[in-house]
Amino acid sequence: MPSRAIHKPSLPRVVVAGGGVAGLETLLALHALARDRVDVTVLAPELRFVNLSMAVDQPFKPKRGRGFRLEDTAVELGARWHHGVLDHIEHEAHRVFTRDGEELPYDMLVLAVGAHPEREWQSVDVLTYHGGHDGPSYELLLHHLLEGQISRVAFVKPAGASWPLPLYDLALMTAAECARHGRSGVELSLITPEEEPLGMFGAAASAKVRELLEAAGVTLHTSSYGAPTHRGWLEISPGERGMRVDRVITEPRLAGPRLRGIACAADGFIQTDAHGRVIGLDDVFAAGDATTFPVKQGGLAAQEADAVAEAIAASVGAEIEPQPFHPILRGVLLTGGPARYMRADISGGAGDDSTISREALWWPPDKISGRYLAPYLSSQVGEALDVMPQGEDVIPIEIPLESVASSTLGFGELTDLPLS
Ligand SMILES: Cc1cc2nc3c(=O)[nH]c(=O)nc-3n(C[C@H](O)[C@H](O)[C@H](O)COP(=O)(O)OP(=O)(O)OC[C@H]3O[C@@H](n4cnc5c(N)ncnc54)[C@H](O)[C@@H]3O)c2cc1C
Repeated sequence: MPSRAIHKPSLPRVVVAGGGVAGLETLLALHALARDRVDVTVLAPELRFVNLSMAVDQPFKPKRGRGFRLEDTAVELGARWHHGVLDHIEHEAHRVFTRDGEELPYDMLVLAVGAHPEREWQSVDVLTYHGGHDGPSYELLLHHLLEGQISRVAFVKPAGASWPLPLYDLALMTAAECARHGRSGVELSLITPEEEPLGMFGAAASAKVRELLEAAGVTLHTSSYGAPTHRGWLEISPGERGMRVDRVITEPRLAGPRLRGIACAADGFIQTDAHGRVIGLDDVFAAGDATTFPVKQGGLAAQEADAVAEAIAASVGAEIEPQPFHPILRGVLLTGGPARYMRADISGGAGDDSTISREALWWPPDKISGRYLAPYLSSQVGEALDVMPQGEDVIPIEIPLESVASSTLGFGELTDLPLS
């Protein structure tokens, strides 16, 4: 359903499909780099953007509702808003069709539709944590744990693509919550196919994460695959290992979006070049979890979107040398105590520059470290610290927010901070 359209008849039309991290970052980056040169339409099925990465915090801390209306953001950034679901693409005609049968013409198309989350196991004892709507179920589990009705909880990372951080956040925050309530005798374990815990953040970060888990009393099983086989039992392979469990917490396994009209890899993800161009198709770009890049993460989704926006901006005459996607992994691990900031250049050839710190390594210090999205999130949901743990968990930082998040729709850019 189109609404509040802004008419820019002669400009190249860019349709951005998806109103998540990559879609919003594309919109913000295009606004920063090419605002008067393109006519942007955002097509998304949901009305609000909600920062999924902070959903893990929800069972532990009551919060006011988060998020903001996508239509308002689109209008604020001079774009059109179209509420709907992309059904298929007819690229020869440069048109996308929605499930409602509407048709949107484009000169350039950005596919930012995310990955498709799949549940690995369906069982009453298994909670697949996907977002805020799972908060109440997790809260109930915590209640049962603190009251002593259950004692053994296993956090099981599925095989294949999944988001790196949520299970670690949940395991550490759960351990901290038990300690805070003097609940002893709980058995928390984390079972992961990774060779090292959060190994993709590099050696230094991973070693520290191992230490944190150990100190919190979370038993770690690396290079291991967990599978709840029957009630109260978790099989662990390889080897004939297994353990009794009361509950299993896992996260979705991510599959590609398989959009009709777009060739994809066997697992459904979209293959792009370093500037986000879909292989074999002119004028079609993809960014975020939907692409074949193997690490699925909000910060990386935003970096892919930046590469796409730069390529589009350059193609419409903006004075910019478009930079290829150069993945820098930035993650905030919530521990129930001070958060840990982790950063690693995973572009290959950079060596191991793994860093982990109690102090923010970038600013604003959001969990989603988008160049434009993090300052924008700060401006929309309050200060950056508002999306971080509250009270004693807040890490004092002395850089004023205004230094990066300025006024008049110039929201500033995410900035890496010097190591102290
Ligand atoms: C609990 C949890 C914790 C996380 N923690 C972190 C973290 O700490 N740090 C971090 O960086 N990342 C984290 N992530 C991962 C991060 O949220 C994702 O990597 C990121 O959202 C990917 O961005 P995206 O734009 O590719 O996909 P999404 O943000 O999923 O957005 C996809 C968008 O496309 C829309 N869409 C889907 N299909 C269609 C269609 N056919 N037509 C039109 N629109 C469509 C969707 O509705 C949505 O708006 C976490 C995720 C979860 C669930």
